[in-house]
Amino acid sequence: MAQHVLVTGGAGYIGSHACKVLAREGFVPITFDNLITGWKDAVKFGPFEQGDLLDQSRLNEVFATYEPVAVMHFAALSQVGEATKEPALYWRNNVLGTLNLIEAAVTSGCLNFVFSSTCATYGDQDGVTLDENSAQHPENAYGASKRAIEDMLKDFESSHGLRHVVFRYFNVAGADPDGEVGEHHRPETHLIPVMLDAIDGKRDGLTVFGDDYETRDGTCIRDYVHVMDLIDAHVAGLRWLLDGNPSEVFNLGTGNGFSVMEVIRHSATVTNREVPYEIGPRRAGDCVKLVSGSDKARQKLGWSPDRSTMDQMIADAWRWHQNGSYRE
Ligand code: UDP
Repeated sequence: MAQHVLVTGGAGYIGSHACKVLAREGFVPITFDNLITGWKDAVKFGPFEQGDLLDQSRLNEVFATYEPVAVMHFAALSQVGEATKEPALYWRNNVLGTLNLIEAAVTSGCLNFVFSSTCATYGDQDGVTLDENSAQHPENAYGASKRAIEDMLKDFESSHGLRHVVFRYFNVAGADPDGEVGEHHRPETHLIPVMLDAIDGKRDGLTVFGDDYETRDGTCIRDYVHVMDLIDAHVAGLRWLLDGNPSEVFNLGTGNGFSVMEVIRHSATVTNREVPYEIGPRRAGDCVKLVSGSDKARQKLGWSPDRSTMDQMIADAWRWHQNGSYRE
């Protein structure tokens, strides 16, 4: 019988891509999502259970119904700007919500856990590239909430045997090349979709958040990874746990840093359009540079992020932007 995997946030951007790939790989993805930032239309590849991580009894019910072999935990608030203004939201939804989820998992005997963490747990480190052993000094409540969950996972491994793979994502971009699912946030804050909105006139223009950083062109540098490559790593991480391997932490980034201005130039080339933009002030909570300095996922999981060229990510995002959407 096909194995069930509980996918929290399965109606969101990354979770919906995970469900697609899990189903293709022979698993049954069970989406658990409160639809606050997710989309019902994005749930296409397995059963849907609407619910909130703050509702412990609902979580217990879903674990009892499906008896999943593993959890892939994507559901979270993830906006740096919002986190800086409203830290309580992040501590409640991300940390308390995950505590409920972990308790429900261990109570039901589900002891394999794949967790989406973030490079924001590292914070700014004088422009060095970051590997899994780098110190974690998050600059904002989003990164702090994810680091707290990483600590929580270690405690539940010691006490209850909850084995886990933690993926610290760099910047996720692109979309399913088949166009079945894609990135759709309301409001949209992420650089590439905001830029595509600006290119086709859905918003007035893009504001570049600061051009006076200590970087090659003054704008912030990020390491972008294609969402399909990111999910390939998650499936490899799931198999890693199901094969009985120990808990691990992996960075998911390519090691190539792009400044905001470089992303703008690639977008103009790929879409063959002008990118209307203006330079604005810095955004509170932003790190100057976040670039992965590690090949650990490549070495241990055999991960190969072949779609993660900037042009491919923009091309796939642009195709989705023009042809795909969810009902609001
Ligand atoms: N950014 C920008 N204008 C925008 C959105 C983002 O200049 O409208 C910059 C942001 O300051 C950061 C980079 O683009 O340097 C990526 O930001 P995003 O919000 O996409 O992801 P984050 O790195 O915050 O997770």
